[in-house]
Amino acid sequence: MTSPPDEGSTLERRLAALEETVARLSALLEPSLSVSKLAAPIASVALKDSSQHQFSSKFFALLDLGESLLKYGAALGLADAVAAGRMSAESVALLFRAPPSLGKLAELLRTQLDDTSSAGWTIDRLREAFRRPARRPTPNETARYLFEEFLNVRNTVRGHGSQQPEGYYEGLYLKHHLTVHDCIKACKFIELPLVSIHAVDNVDAQHEYRAAMLLGITPESILLRSPTRVSVGDTCVWDHGSRLLPLIDLVSFRYCPVCSLEHVFFAEQITADRIYFHSYTGNHRFDVPRAAH
Ligand SMILES: [Zn+2]
Repeated sequence: MTSPPDEGSTLERRLAALEETVARLSALLEPSLSVSKLAAPIASVALKDSSQHQFSSKFFALLDLGESLLKYGAALGLADAVAAGRMSAESVALLFRAPPSLGKLAELLRTQLDDTSSAGWTIDRLREAFRRPARRPTPNETARYLFEEFLNVRNTVRGHGSQQPEGYYEGLYLKHHLTVHDCIKACKFIELPLVSIHAVDNVDAQHEYRAAMLLGITPESILLRSPTRVSVGDTCVWDHGSRLLPLIDLVSFRYCPVCSLEHVFFAEQITADRIYFHSYTGNHRFDVPRAAH
């Protein structure tokens, strides 16, 4: 075979260009996560990624998705600690006296996962997501990526004072989006429904709750019975049976004065007398007095 000396490299270049195009197309066509079975705080953010077309917007939506996954996990870990008596609600509130960084929230979640004295339906679900099955103390790939690589990339990109060229975000998006989506799929605790309690009746020895079930982005009215006592207005994780875990305002479904709709918020800061909420939905913020639940 006598071929011109640069034909091979031309073919390689063409092949590389073709591979890049295929990667770009599959990134754009990749079916979005099926959000209808994800708890609302994750579902609403997962939709933001697929609704963007610029790589910078898609990448920042992806950062929001990883952030909400970590925040939601931390909220469940802390709420479980309060429900099980390992921490008091006030000591959790003190952790939010100054807004905790995402790194701090990840560390709080890790502390709950590492506390071998704890067991229960919520903390066990968190361990299934973040620890190796045979050796529960050892972080798995999901934990390694989210708690280390994702946090580092997120802190670097959020730390840039100015917008980078579009190609920079394209590279980051293509590098990270499948891994973040894999984390979402591996974290089965986000498939536990979130419920917002609207009314309570006492039936036999149980409480009967009328609630909005917050899976996907459309709330659904349900009736459930539980021996757990929670208050009207509380937002809780529900195990599809009779168990409820109140999220003690760390995650809260509320009427939003910014957009006049009800949606889900994360507590950003809890002072002695006020709770400051932030939502990834529209980046809305508002605060309420702590007494008024
Ligand atoms: Zn709003």
